[in-house]
Amino acid sequence: MTQRGYGGPLRYVQGPGVASDLGCYVAPLGDRALVVIDGFFWDTLRPELQSALAGAGVAAEFVRFGGESSDAEIERCVAAGREAGATSVVGIGGGKALDTAKITAFHIGARIVTMPTIASTDSPTSSLGVIYSPQGVYDRVVRCGRNPDVVLVDSELIVKAPARFLAAGMGDALSTFYEARSNVESRSKNYIGDSYATTVGGYQIARACHDTLMRDGRAAYVAARDERLTTAVENIIEANTLLSGLGFENCGVSGAHGIHDALTVLEPTHHFLHGEKVAFGVLCLLVLENRPQAEFAEALSFCRDIGLPTTLADLGLGDVTAAEMARVGEAAMMPTNVIHSVPVTLSARAIADAIWTASALASSVDSLGRPASSH
Ligand SMILES: [Zn+2]
Repeated sequence: MTQRGYGGPLRYVQGPGVASDLGCYVAPLGDRALVVIDGFFWDTLRPELQSALAGAGVAAEFVRFGGESSDAEIERCVAAGREAGATSVVGIGGGKALDTAKITAFHIGARIVTMPTIASTDSPTSSLGVIYSPQGVYDRVVRCGRNPDVVLVDSELIVKAPARFLAAGMGDALSTFYEARSNVESRSKNYIGDSYATTVGGYQIARACHDTLMRDGRAAYVAARDERLTTAVENIIEANTLLSGLGFENCGVSGAHGIHDALTVLEPTHHFLHGEKVAFGVLCLLVLENRPQAEFAEALSFCRDIGLPTTLADLGLGDVTAAEMARVGEAAMMPTNVIHSVPVTLSARAIADAIWTASALASSVDSLGRPASSH
């Protein structure tokens, strides 16, 4: 019988103002912390957090995150963590700051606390970290061996960030269920260990992620643009962070991320956020797997309503050539690409044709699924 496995963070806490409780969550993990904090918050948030930690009896050493989760940056943080005798590493910022903190903790054997300041990525909950070159080019994924001990999500902080980040997070979260389904149908392994199948719980979390987006995504986007913290915004922060994070790690990713990765061979895509490109990848995946038209229409209208790209032109690729798209198809076929967990036979040609067709369909179908020329 196949073994099934599930993993996740020990604690997840979300709400307005929870950042000021940081000390209460870090203190049980030991009395010395290394805090890797995004430079944007060095002057604003750091003094408050330093006193919150001191008040809880934690001696904290703050490191200003350099902007890339590179080998050099991780070495710098590891040295600072060893010097401070850190028992825990706290990451505060976007996905790259959190990944640097998680990988640093892995190297020095410390516990992990993540505190995302935007809801555009599902790094906060996972045990995986990504390393980039100092120039920001993807290098490799590191398995940190454990998920964060605590994920602390201050929704007041997140709603103050530009709404584009929340929308991008929804694009990334939109892929979670469709990619989970690819993996379940192809009986692929999840990311919890080397050989575990998906649990019923893991798959239902991915489904809940999708349902929450469809129910609350549009209302959350409108509210977040004016920095209003509604229940819909709280639900979407949870969907983007907890549900999407647990969903992808416990079920696996597939073609939306695989096509995202392959599209990065074309320079114009570098100007878009991860979740924006993944959103377009979702449309391509639905074509590649030949899913019902109603599913495509649902995803398309959702992306349009929250300002996510749905066509090649939206990603700066309006003039892409057949030769360039053939390169994308070949990049997607590389053995290391995550696309191989789709339950259909793949070729570079089939992938390129799915990308062309998703873009053409998005251009020719209105948000109700009717041909655009009919009205
Ligand atoms: Zn993603």
